[in-house]
Amino acid sequence: MTHSGFVALAGRPNVGKSTLVNHLVGEKVAIVSDKPQTTRRAIRGVATGDDWQLVLVDLPGVQRPRDPLTARMQARMQYELSESDAALFVLNGEQGVGPGDRFIAAAIREVGLPTVTAVNKADRLRRRGMVEALSAAGELDVQGEIFPISARTGEGVEDLQSALIELMPQGPFLYPPEERTDLPENVRLAELVREQVLARTRQELPHAAEVEIDELIERDEDGLLTVVARIWAETDSQKRILVGAGGRMVRDIGTAARIEIEALTGRRVHLDLNVRVRRGWRQDEALLDRLGID
Ligand code: GDP
Ligand code: MG
Repeated sequence: MTHSGFVALAGRPNVGKSTLVNHLVGEKVAIVSDKPQTTRRAIRGVATGDDWQLVLVDLPGVQRPRDPLTARMQARMQYELSESDAALFVLNGEQGVGPGDRFIAAAIREVGLPTVTAVNKADRLRRRGMVEALSAAGELDVQGEIFPISARTGEGVEDLQSALIELMPQGPFLYPPEERTDLPENVRLAELVREQVLARTRQELPHAAEVEIDELIERDEDGLLTVVARIWAETDSQKRILVGAGGRMVRDIGTAARIEIEALTGRRVHLDLNVRVRRGWRQDEALLDRLGID
């Protein structure tokens, strides 16, 4: 008899939710950075064992809606929590518990979901710091077990995974066992480009940039994959930064993203990348639809 179900990841931005999903799935399905709003789309990562399957829903971080983009992200998180079989509440052990964590704890209590709490970034903490972080996590009064883990090194993740599997209802697999994510390929590739943009930009640019794949062309003779992609910026000055002196920035982004895309697809890749301005793309509901942000 198999056990399977949906696990919604809840936690403030930057606590390590996406890193944890990737570790559990064993493949990079969600991009990671130290910038806010890295995760804009609800991404499902699928981890499958002999008789269990966890569908991990990596949600955008919780925040007050400021524009149609953040309003969609917020509505999505409430919807996913209500539709899931369990919540995986992730805290940053290095930072301790704050008002944002208490807000999310209250949301989880309200939905009444079975929950497992992870106190992450154990690799950055001494024993005493972790003991304090675990006790602060306990005071949040969310039901279920609490695990110290490092999503980066994998320490503690196996025990956490077993606890999640125990919370899953009996039932057939929800995805084919070999599937790792439900993201369409073009969105997955666009995210790999955006990850490199995030790694190289600061301040408002990480929020302002988005990536769209225009074309994917597979050549039959030698299997070369040509990816035509554009980076959207909101202003001309942002575009200048993204292009860089002599085109250096966009070239560096392209080189790094190409290596990631080659690793993911197992193909030789030509990445044709350019930067365009689209004022107010965050307000453009049609574009948000096309970019898969719903
Ligand atoms: P999210 O916003 O909750 O999805 O967080 P991310 O997974 O994007 O991670 C945010 C930052 O924390 C990234 O720079 C990660 O590399 C880092 N990070 C995540 N997990 C760990 C961990 O266990 N240890 C350390 N040292 N850093 C981590
Ligand atoms: Mg994330």
